Amino acid sequence: MSDNWNVEEELKPLQLKCTSSDCNNGKHCYKPTRKQKAANTVGECRSCDEPAPFDWDRLHKLDPKDLDYAIAALRNELFRQHYWTNEIPQRVENYARRKGVSGMKVAMERQIYQSIGSPADSFDGRQTSKEDSPKVNAVDFAQHATASCCRKCVEYWYGIPQDRSLTDLEISYLTQLGMRFVGERFPFLTEQGEKVPPIRSNKSNSQRTKRSES
Ligand SMILES: [Zn+2]
Ligand SMILES: [Zn+2]
Repeated sequence: MSDNWNVEEELKPLQLKCTSSDCNNGKHCYKPTRKQKAANTVGECRSCDEPAPFDWDRLHKLDPKDLDYAIAALRNELFRQHYWTNEIPQRVENYARRKGVSGMKVAMERQIYQSIGSPADSFDGRQTSKEDSPKVNAVDFAQHATASCCRKCVEYWYGIPQDRSLTDLEISYLTQLGMRFVGERFPFLTEQGEKVPPIRSNKSNSQRTKRSES
């Protein structure tokens, strides 16, 4: 597969895709290819074919007492790892500050239910805004980081088939995972939320990266 980021490519502004990998640095992609499905090697990295350094069966138990294990596993994937470490725009942080921990939990559960609660349709894979979207919110960040962004990711990460609705237990588990992300990336949130004034749009920040044709 030619998805690997090599050093030369990394110097250019390269758009991170959910199939990107950086295998030499231990950041893989487990989204299965058709070939892997046919060969029954789902769970290995699609780029380097190495088996995952964690136990998929343990992950697929969806045990709410084993969230640390799931988070450590998720961070082996380049796309997830990016969302655990990328820069969070001020607007996104403010959204989380206003909601607070309890409001984020409500928003997380609702958005997970609305975006991936039903069986996959043809829009699947596009329902969760990415970091460069003007619409992106803190729940979207959490969903990408914890693989509850679409039914394809939920299927290969958590072993839940795409063609049925999620159960309450599954939604609860994914919400708890998302709240781990909130706890780690927004450790300063108050329980009930705080007043944060809107950002005045007078300074030109380089949130949008121009795509250069080269
Ligand atoms: Zn790999
Ligand atoms: Zn996804």
